[in-house]
Amino acid sequence: MKIAICASEVVPYAKTGGLADVAGALPLALEELGHEVVIIMPKYKSIAASEFGVKKLKEGVFGTVAGRDIKVYFIENDAYFKRDGLYGEKTGDYKDNLERFKFYSKATLELMPQVGFKPDIIHIHDWQAALIVIYLKTLYQNNPFYKNTKTLLTIHNLAYQGLFPKEEFPKLGLDWSLFDMERLEFYGKINLLKGGIVFSDLINTVSSTYSKEIQTKEFGCGLEGILGKRKNDLSGIINGLDYSIWDPQADKFIAKNFSATDIEGKHKNKEDLQKICSLPPKKGVPLFGIVSRLAEQKGFDILAGAIEKICSLDLQLVILGTGDLKYHVLLEGIVKKYPKVISLHLKFDDTLAHKIYAGSDIFLMPSKYEPCGLGQMISLKYGTIPLVFETGGLADTVNSDNGFLFDSYTKEELLKTVKKSMQVFSAQKKWQKLMQSAMRYNFSWQELAKKYAQLYEKAQAKAKR
Ligand code: ADP
Repeated sequence: MKIAICASEVVPYAKTGGLADVAGALPLALEELGHEVVIIMPKYKSIAASEFGVKKLKEGVFGTVAGRDIKVYFIENDAYFKRDGLYGEKTGDYKDNLERFKFYSKATLELMPQVGFKPDIIHIHDWQAALIVIYLKTLYQNNPFYKNTKTLLTIHNLAYQGLFPKEEFPKLGLDWSLFDMERLEFYGKINLLKGGIVFSDLINTVSSTYSKEIQTKEFGCGLEGILGKRKNDLSGIINGLDYSIWDPQADKFIAKNFSATDIEGKHKNKEDLQKICSLPPKKGVPLFGIVSRLAEQKGFDILAGAIEKICSLDLQLVILGTGDLKYHVLLEGIVKKYPKVISLHLKFDDTLAHKIYAGSDIFLMPSKYEPCGLGQMISLKYGTIPLVFETGGLADTVNSDNGFLFDSYTKEELLKTVKKSMQVFSAQKKWQKLMQSAMRYNFSWQELAKKYAQLYEKAQAKAKR
């Protein structure tokens, strides 16, 4: 199959979140399955021509090769993309994001005929690429080149929808009739993700549970109605984990390598972590770890409510993260009160993240909602038992054989589950078994790419548009 992956960020060229990991790893795994894949993304400032073997191919288009023979195309427009950020900077989102991603989308549809790549599937990601299918099903509807092309939209986080003022609609070059509740309008604004949902042949999210949750009022961010209408075309595929980066057997950042069959080394990592974090070198006390954005989505509202009680228990807690100022302030206050219990690192630090995954006993991830989540998958691989709220990707990857879950989002339930995990921890034999069971879970891209290939086949089988 010929597949075009269209995303606004792709590892290793540009990244702000999990979308880039997927858009970088999936093409490689699809190529391994024998598919012909191209990637098309904007050429940001961070993508210098000299880097990654990037060369100018023609006016406005740069390119390189990934994997064995995946052509990566970068759409150039210095006025739009040669900026410090991808979507915005500290002061907020770029004001011309509609025009920027309109340019990218149009250029993508123009590029494929020029380079002779006739896609069976255009796989778009998030709102930034949604105009590609909106245009495909409207302005390019009768273009013979795309006659047999089908589309898949992957939603990585429904909270980001690409909302723009109605006044900008003429910039899109679309008929005003499309600005209605059934298509692009959302409470008087333009909603690009909604357009993507309406016009894509199939839609998926990054976990099966999240694909169901987003059809409810609680998680649907206002799009639950339109998603419910497409429920037969909506599914979920969990993201894979890059085991070339996250493998305790080969991890260069950690004090001692270990594996499911040779778990002893994990203790050295706990000692190392305690030392770095100036925590007492206690063996029998459970060490909890958090590596996260400090945001309400990640459960910091209930954690804030429970933290004093948690810190009064016989445990240790290492927190690495940055985010909302209010949580920075709150946690700094807690550290002052419980310096021997909690160690706080308000920064982004990849090395320390590896050490926390390797050295902790329990990984705390009580996210309020979680489309997929990587932290719990990483911690499983490192035999660090995840403790999570049962939602989205957390519900799909954590169960009573490999972790601890609570199903009512309150500070009381969180605290109760922390206490429960401590009880199990004190039964060392049971704990060893739990660790070994956790380490056997595998979320490799090889398997997940097969699921995407099945979705592409399902899209292909759909009636001609
Ligand atoms: P998100 O919603 O933030 O994308 P995920 O769990 O999907 O959450 O992925 C977060 C990733 O970022 C994980 O790999 C996690 O280890 C990493 N991460 C988050 N905060 C930090 C930090 N402060 N330092 C290092 N790595 C971090």
